Amino acid sequence: MDLGIAGKWALVCAASKGLGKGCAQALVREGVNVVITARGAEALAATAAELRALNGGEVRLVAGDIATPEGRAAALAACPQVDILVNNAGGPPPGDFRDWDRDAWIKALDANMLAPIELIKATVDAMAERGFGRVVNITSGAVKAPIDVLGLSNGARSGLTGFVAGVARSGIAARGVTLNGLLPGAFDTDRLRSGTQSAAQKTGQDFELLWSRRRAGIPAQRFGSAEEFGAVCAFLCSVHAGYITGQNLLVDGGAYPGTF
Ligand code: NAD
Repeated sequence: MDLGIAGKWALVCAASKGLGKGCAQALVREGVNVVITARGAEALAATAAELRALNGGEVRLVAGDIATPEGRAAALAACPQVDILVNNAGGPPPGDFRDWDRDAWIKALDANMLAPIELIKATVDAMAERGFGRVVNITSGAVKAPIDVLGLSNGARSGLTGFVAGVARSGIAARGVTLNGLLPGAFDTDRLRSGTQSAAQKTGQDFELLWSRRRAGIPAQRFGSAEEFGAVCAFLCSVHAGYITGQNLLVDGGAYPGTF
């Protein structure tokens, strides 16, 4: 299927690794020009080289923290126009809500709620003027089924989801702009591995045991790959997905247990 987005410009945030990188790869393969961001310049440069080797769209890179105004300004300045915005950032740490002070909450809100909101604010009106725009927010399955130790994530991402639900149904919906959430379940990325590693250390359990137990709890009996996550993202960004807006799509191998 031709996704019909070759030549468009995409800003893909937090894309040197994992799910963001998967989204950038899928878009570049479709001939989309991308600006990718991440905090670490070295990993970002390595990813940019991989993306350029795909011989798809143009690839630009901006090192910086997308949770800061400076990081966002630099990312936006590198993108001639933002037709596609993929919002992403590292997730907040797990813990006990009794230990989280205002600073911990502000950090989580900055990265996982306010940064995407600021980027949406900076881009959607111009998308509407051009008659085409796609916003995909990488959030988490925890938006639908909260995970107790991830309270910072549950809270910040639910705030973003509620905000986006309203904007998606505002006047820009009639002008070719869609906004959707993409909700990962368990994907085999650095984040999942390091999270499992620290859980193993804390509880004195074997990493492999925890890893296989987690996998066994997924109906698909496997972790997702960043590549397949990216393919779903690219479809949501395609011309074929123009009638899908304000939705929250789980990509979780059947892990969410509800009918709806
Ligand atoms: P990852 O650790 O594999 O990759 C994160 C990427 O984001 C890296 O490129 C890193 O450099 C970049 N990054 C992090 N914080 C940044 C910031 N403030 N500014 C710019 N770049 C930043 O993580 P992942 O597994 O791809 O997860 C991506 C998002 O999806 C996270 O928010 C995570 O919590 C969420 N998520 C992941 C899973 C999973 O199973 N992997 C499940 C649910 C939710």
